[in-house]
Amino acid sequence: MMQTLDVLKAARSVVIKIGTALIAREDADGVRTEWLTALAQDVAALRKQGKNVTIISSGGIALGRSALGISPQTPPQKIPLEHKQAASSVGQFRVFHGYHEAFSAQELTCAQILLTMTETENRAMHLNARATLQTLLDKGIVPIINENDTVSTAEIRFGDNDRLAARVAQMINADVVVLLSTIDGLYTANPYKNPGAQHIPIVETLGDEHVSMAGDALPGLSTGGMKSKIEAAQTALRAGIPLLIADGRAEHALDNIFNNAEMRCTLFMASAHEKNARKSWIHAHLKPKGAVYVDSGALQALKNGKSLLPVGVKKVEGVFARGDAVEIRALEDGQRLGIGLSAYSSKDAGDIMGKKSADILEILGYAGRDELIHRNDMVLEV
Ligand code: GLU
Repeated sequence: MMQTLDVLKAARSVVIKIGTALIAREDADGVRTEWLTALAQDVAALRKQGKNVTIISSGGIALGRSALGISPQTPPQKIPLEHKQAASSVGQFRVFHGYHEAFSAQELTCAQILLTMTETENRAMHLNARATLQTLLDKGIVPIINENDTVSTAEIRFGDNDRLAARVAQMINADVVVLLSTIDGLYTANPYKNPGAQHIPIVETLGDEHVSMAGDALPGLSTGGMKSKIEAAQTALRAGIPLLIADGRAEHALDNIFNNAEMRCTLFMASAHEKNARKSWIHAHLKPKGAVYVDSGALQALKNGKSLLPVGVKKVEGVFARGDAVEIRALEDGQRLGIGLSAYSSKDAGDIMGKKSADILEILGYAGRDELIHRNDMVLEV
């Protein structure tokens, strides 16, 4: 579909989720080497077009099964949690080794990141994880992310990486999420059970009818299903990020998705209204713990869409921690100008206010963010 290609071509930051069945061989005894080589070539091509690529990869548990003596026939749901966690610590090493080999052959550097739910929900951790990811992307490195299965508990597990991919996309403000799995998109009914099920190429507004079309997990090594993909779409769309589901099994599937209008997939479109969802969330849900007062020069910069730098802040009020919400007020008359998440605690903000970002290291003894409040974390009301 041309519309889908347009979304993909315009994307500068792309999150790609690789399902277990794509990376792990069917006997679960190693990675699919040729497929991974093709993927690395496709990612290298996207990088050459100036796109940032972040990968969420499953496969840790599957590739650690044999070491734990778990047969490839045992469905993932039947493996006890502690065995899955132990398997993941063996398998994750193999997953990453596979990426490292395939990507370095394309002169790509990859970074391994293991996340848990906590990092995406706790604001201070969220800011740290995001800053790390941003730094890697700025350096042209491809982050390869998986859930930190060994430390997750049954209660806080993502359950699958589809949702993690959407969370990460939200975290780094990506432009599109691509879920590569063993099915080419959403159907009006489960196509494995209903031969008459129709493929849906574009979902303009995700509604309850789509949720009820989604069946459960697919057979084999994979753990997710259409249900978790729809949930991922809901999360991504709430952040204004479109999400695409495609069959990634064939070699160079990724290249096909980005270049071939005939490639069958489902695109969940994001509306312009949803683009501001993160900001409305900041606005509606966060109670300010303090305030920073800015001079007129800084106010002008904010109105021009810039971040708030320490140099523009003249007074800090209240006690807040890194990641807390603070009001932005005008120094002149105290008028509230907006609200945002502070990248520094009130103490550190007080120490660096009025100073150049280049001096932060010397003043605080550590090199923090250049911005006191990043523009993505700010809602202006004037
Ligand atoms: N984190 C799991 C693994 O590496 C996969 C979860 C999923 O497939 O969504 O095996």
